[in-house]
Amino acid sequence: MKTYITRMMTMIMVLFLLLYGTYKWMNARTFQVFGNLTSEVNTDKKVVALTFDDGPTENTGKILSLLDKYKVKATFFLIGEEIERSPEEAKKIVEKGHQIGNHTYTHNRMIFKSSTYIKKEIENTDELIKETGYDGEIDFRPPNGKKLIGLPYYLHKNDRETIMWSIEPDSVTNDPSKKLAVVKENAKPGSIILLHPMYDKSVDEIQVLEEILAALTKEGYSFVTVNELQKLNTK
Ligand SMILES: [Zn+2]
Repeated sequence: MKTYITRMMTMIMVLFLLLYGTYKWMNARTFQVFGNLTSEVNTDKKVVALTFDDGPTENTGKILSLLDKYKVKATFFLIGEEIERSPEEAKKIVEKGHQIGNHTYTHNRMIFKSSTYIKKEIENTDELIKETGYDGEIDFRPPNGKKLIGLPYYLHKNDRETIMWSIEPDSVTNDPSKKLAVVKENAKPGSIILLHPMYDKSVDEIQVLEEILAALTKEGYSFVTVNELQKLNTK
């Protein structure tokens, strides 16, 4: 009886660790099983990359004007479906010379999905991105940062780079007045910052963006695209 209980306990522990490991693994910002993943860059230069996920939406114009005001180039991870819905907004981003990345077609979580599904999600979106006139390298960012085996395998096989991030104020606080502090505390040369101003119905997230642009500029940082940041990698 005693050995039976011990065995059961061990099995439960192993199962728990497996589930916990899978969960950690799926959400890891700095690790995936296959292929290249970047969440920040090693550099001595005072540069950071601003990245925007989702959209494009009608907020695009406001975001672009702010980036223009601070003479900043950023990286936009766009959703295929949304490019179809607002192709003009996507074109505006390209015309301003920003980097565009692929954030899948539907923004569904790319875990426990077939390889055909993953391929379609990514390649349909690539096509839509190319239709905007963008002709640069198309990096990839998984929806909600989630990936397990199928997605990294596809990305690796197709020689695609996964771009994660090192600072995400939205995951620390919902309070717009506290987001700048999160960025200031964590920013260092080579940081990749993730913001979500595309679906903001208020002006709060646009305000946060302006605060970040102003504060980091004042601290002597310049803002570059993810591709430019990676060229400064000293590792
Ligand atoms: Zn997203």
